[in-house]
Amino acid sequence: MIPAVLPTYNRAPVTFVRGEGSWLTAEDGSRYLDLGAGIAVNALGHAHPALVAALTEQAQKLWHVSNLYRIPQQEALAERLVAETFADTVFFTNSGTEALELAVKMARRHFFEAGQPERHEIIAFEGAFHGRSIAAISSAGGEKLTRGFAPLLPGFVHVPFADIEAVRAALSERTAAILIEPIQGEGGIRPAPDALLRELREICDETGTLLIFDEVQCGMGRTGRLFAHEWAGVTPDIMMVAKGIGGGFPLGAVLATERAAAGMTAGTHGSTYGGNPLACAVGLKVTEIIADPAFLAEVNRKAGLLRQGLEGLVASHDAVFEEVRGAGLMLGLKCRVSNADVVSAGYAQHILTVPAADNVVRVLPPLNISDEEIAEALARLDAAAASLA
Ligand SMILES: *Cc1c(COP(=O)(O)O)cnc(C)c1O
Repeated sequence: MIPAVLPTYNRAPVTFVRGEGSWLTAEDGSRYLDLGAGIAVNALGHAHPALVAALTEQAQKLWHVSNLYRIPQQEALAERLVAETFADTVFFTNSGTEALELAVKMARRHFFEAGQPERHEIIAFEGAFHGRSIAAISSAGGEKLTRGFAPLLPGFVHVPFADIEAVRAALSERTAAILIEPIQGEGGIRPAPDALLRELREICDETGTLLIFDEVQCGMGRTGRLFAHEWAGVTPDIMMVAKGIGGGFPLGAVLATERAAAGMTAGTHGSTYGGNPLACAVGLKVTEIIADPAFLAEVNRKAGLLRQGLEGLVASHDAVFEEVRGAGLMLGLKCRVSNADVVSAGYAQHILTVPAADNVVRVLPPLNISDEEIAEALARLDAAAASLA
């Protein structure tokens, strides 16, 4: 008989009942060190006091009014994001998938309003992940996401990851946008080289094409800058954000320049819940904490500690691990044994990691993990690796 919950997830046999900082407590009272952070969502760990306060204060005042009315929390968060980034304007969603949907609509509508409706194609990269809606799986392509869901949405062209010549070959008078994760997350913590992001920016400037960065996983301080593309010194025209921005409360956003957003006039898009007062109260607090340069400096310092430790782990367990990849606190261990076995061995040591494609184990701790917790995590990963030898 089919379970009451649709069985689309391969769940680990563990149930958590509370969380505090980098730790989760299971039903039996045992504690797990969380290096997955709900897949880069719990950017400030579990039950951060300032986020609990922001949420409960708002919950006592007003939960929902709809976007028929002005929402001050939404305006405050949008203004903060505009102040911190390339963007002139922000639309709030509840998820990364919905951010993808708007990014696609915005790009197409931009050229429609410019009198070039034939420019509707989006070039995307193999191994990408942009969500699970039909547009999102059509944009990412790939057998694993799309099998059995045809007909897919037309208008997406796929090129090998980080292949600039393939991008040039795919460009045409139909191209509206290029869509890329500065660091592929689900694809296996694969960073796009800075030089590639700069070349994409040049190509887009030369041809009027819109550049869309999907920073749903790599954004919000994850790499040690507020957004990952800052390392490359280029900005997109449209950017998708979600995961970390809500710190665990569902929230996503599309950030855009005035030019890119020109087609999105009143009535062209909307959302019942997107940008509701609860989500935005939490999102504003998350953003205030993470955008603080002192906080980001700490993320970079801790990232150095963790990376050095993981490099040591790879050196001492070279039959289990091949290499460390990624940036900041968005790290991946490329495995020689099955990544699923490494994640399972971690459960036995009460440490949580997340598998990704390309036989990679993702290490995505809360951004405010302590030095002691990093040391403890490395000891537990060492024990997990030893158990596989
Ligand atoms: C998780 C993710 C998404 C989809 O976000 P949801 O909130 O699950 O809809 C899109 N893009 C990237 C890069 C992601 O990591």
